[in-house]
Amino acid sequence: MRNCDLGPLSDGGVAVVIGGGPAGVATALALQQGARALGRNLRTIVVEGKQFAGEQHHNQCVGVLSPPVMDLFQTDLGIPFPRHLIRDTITGYVLHTPRRQIILDGQAEPSVTLRRIQFDAYMLEVVRECGIEILQARVTDLEFHADRVVIYNESAPLEADVVVGAFGLDEGTAVIFERAVGYRPPPVLSSVVTKYHPGEAGMAGFGGRIHAFLPASPRIEFGAVTPKGNHLTINIAGSAVDASLMDAFLAFPEVRRTLPCLENAGRFNPRDLRYFKGHFPCGLARNFTGDRFVIVGDAAGLVRAFKGKGVTSALTTGIRAADVILHQGISAAAFWAYHTANSDIMRDMPYGQMMRRLTILAARFNLLEPVLQAAEIDAGLRRALFDAVSAHRPYREVIHEGLSLASVRAIAAALATCAHGPMSR
Ligand SMILES: Cc1cc2nc3c(=O)[nH]c(=O)nc-3n(C[C@H](O)[C@H](O)[C@H](O)COP(=O)(O)OP(=O)(O)OC[C@H]3O[C@@H](n4cnc5c(N)ncnc54)[C@H](O)[C@@H]3O)c2cc1C
Repeated sequence: MRNCDLGPLSDGGVAVVIGGGPAGVATALALQQGARALGRNLRTIVVEGKQFAGEQHHNQCVGVLSPPVMDLFQTDLGIPFPRHLIRDTITGYVLHTPRRQIILDGQAEPSVTLRRIQFDAYMLEVVRECGIEILQARVTDLEFHADRVVIYNESAPLEADVVVGAFGLDEGTAVIFERAVGYRPPPVLSSVVTKYHPGEAGMAGFGGRIHAFLPASPRIEFGAVTPKGNHLTINIAGSAVDASLMDAFLAFPEVRRTLPCLENAGRFNPRDLRYFKGHFPCGLARNFTGDRFVIVGDAAGLVRAFKGKGVTSALTTGIRAADVILHQGISAAAFWAYHTANSDIMRDMPYGQMMRRLTILAARFNLLEPVLQAAEIDAGLRRALFDAVSAHRPYREVIHEGLSLASVRAIAAALATCAHGPMSR
């Protein structure tokens, strides 16, 4: 029998983390290091169903890691950022509407791109080197008792004082938590991802900027083409995007202009232009904390509501969950401190959702063209667009900046004059 006490995890306590993605490994590392600093000896076990090493599994993530990701590694997790895995440094963004484009180069610390499968393999290896146990198996069921949680999996069952759900958007695991504790997964946007290798000259011609697209199509909310060293990753997102919408996206004139060498796709690499499907959370999960459990990362829906930074948010929420487990406790009441700690993300969600709705409406009625035209002369609006696309600042600030009197005036002037203006920078 384990301890019925739901206070901070004490000496000899056991935490089981379900999922070895960024949220799970951040929780495990922060637990291990925090416990050591407090002089406590904990047992932390990460249960991960996939085999990251050897690149046997695909991960849909585009692998753009945004600030403060390096700080989180060095300061909060005390581990080196895997600079050797960096494929590109993002020098800026090009935002496209059907007839216009604008270059958005900010002053902020740049984002970097890497391959997610290699990043996950690195993180799990660090976890192993830190002495944290890793069980390669899928969790199949959970039982919550007054004094413990039983975690059934494809290997031998485990018992823990507290369970951390870091299972991303895995629908099967969501059902397990739903049945056991009444958890409800977050609402999601779907995405289709593909890549292609345009060759050295094609990559050099493409440059170091991410091209982001806001098409007029009501079914594609946004698309992006991201340089990744020797290839380009292309993704689209919307409430129900599929392979035929990716075909349509690749045929849009503004996308063809950006990818002049698309005709060569497949000549270089037989893996080019295969489509993969995935999901992003676009709202909060429900019942994501309770007695003896806390849910982190995508599974909690604790990410920006519209675009970007999923990995950075996953690491952040994992670190915050570990802090509560070590300092506040593992009861439903103690985990309110986790809600408070994540209020920055939660408070920004309505603004992200508002931005999403405004963008969809504006794209549908061709109102984004004047916004881009106005941004060419209005530095505040240009900065707001950069911050929205790069995910460098909260949406609350982006909307505030984008709706300043000067910006609204510039948009109104552009609306009056530009309906069919020429392509700009
Ligand atoms: C198309 C696409 C592109 C994206 N691009 C970016 C990007 O460029 N930059 C960025 O920051 N974010 C990006 N994201 C978001 C990012 O991938 C996620 O926000 C991030 O991976 C969330 O981390 P996580 O640890 O919460 O979940 P995940 O990374 O999904 O990890 C969950 C882990 O749990 C494991 N698991 C699930 N169920 C079980 C079980 N029952 N037993 C054992 N293990 C289990 C899974 O195998 C998985 O490894 C993208 C997402 C998509 C869909």
